[in-house]
Amino acid sequence: MKIMTEEAFDVVVVGSCMTDLVSQAPRLPKAGETIHGHRFFIGFGGKGANQCIQAARMGVKTTMICKVGKDFFGDNYIQNFKDNDVHTEFVRQTSEAATGAASITVNDAGENAIVIVAGANMLLGKDELQEVLPAIRRAKVLVCQLEINSQTSFQALQMARENKVKTIFNPAPAIPDLDSGFYKVSDVFCCNESEAELLTGSPVSNVDEAHGAAQELLQRGCGAVIITLGPQGCVVLTAKASTATHVPAPVVTPVDTTGAGDSFIGALAFYMARHPAMPLEEMAGRANRVAALSVGAAGTQTSFPFRRDLPDELF
Ligand code: ATP
Repeated sequence: MKIMTEEAFDVVVVGSCMTDLVSQAPRLPKAGETIHGHRFFIGFGGKGANQCIQAARMGVKTTMICKVGKDFFGDNYIQNFKDNDVHTEFVRQTSEAATGAASITVNDAGENAIVIVAGANMLLGKDELQEVLPAIRRAKVLVCQLEINSQTSFQALQMARENKVKTIFNPAPAIPDLDSGFYKVSDVFCCNESEAELLTGSPVSNVDEAHGAAQELLQRGCGAVIITLGPQGCVVLTAKASTATHVPAPVVTPVDTTGAGDSFIGALAFYMARHPAMPLEEMAGRANRVAALSVGAAGTQTSFPFRRDLPDELF
């Protein structure tokens, strides 16, 4: 891929795109059974794309480094990035695999059965990263997760670090034996309770346990740790502080919490790019407020607030 622009981006996300194919039915089908559902819709997802779109909606210049299929869903996803002002020059299309997709069936009790096929996401590799190195070098913040090949995520974080670009690493979905190198290339290591639990091997179900887990993760070599705690907000621990700080979230009536973690991380990337000197606890408090708004609306990206939905004091 030839780099066409010399643009500098505030936030670069190296990560996944997934198309959600959602069927609502009275119950989940058994093996071999065909049943009638009552509603179908297509949604845009994938942790990388979600985080990038939340940052873009808050008003920073973002670009996505990812791979989709040379198919209808891939074309559609690229249009979705454009509609959200995300730069698409580094979105590659391949005919070797389909765009990542999640086939989701939801029954009337709200239970679901999901098949995820990562497809083209897994084909983003080191060759593409080498090609986009100039864009990574000029970024303010780089964000990675684990929905693509973990070696690709690691290499992107390493490239950012070598070029003094701030990094946010979201180890999701968590893998139990995460390579210790990931901690060392993370300025901010941001995960939820279940990921913290899997990584530390200790229960993380309340603020006190999250304080302990944050200490344990920080010792592994990252610059700072944030553990998100759903309605309880998050805990933040920086290398400078001796103890973690609990940063509460506003009280809201939840409508749909899907994607709340991605809204939080997208907002955090916005603050790290826009206000690099702001204390991390303040950024996390603001990101809590953005993510809490996303919880009050249905869907994943459809629930993420735009700048116009947020009070001026958050900017
Ligand atoms: P998901 O998997 O649903 O995307 P997650 O498990 O990765 O989410 P959470 O820790 O549940 O992430 O939520 C992320 C952030 O969203 C929280 O730190 C908080 O700011 C906000 N949030 C989530 N749920 C609520 C809630 N019920 N009320 C207020 N804020 C919430």
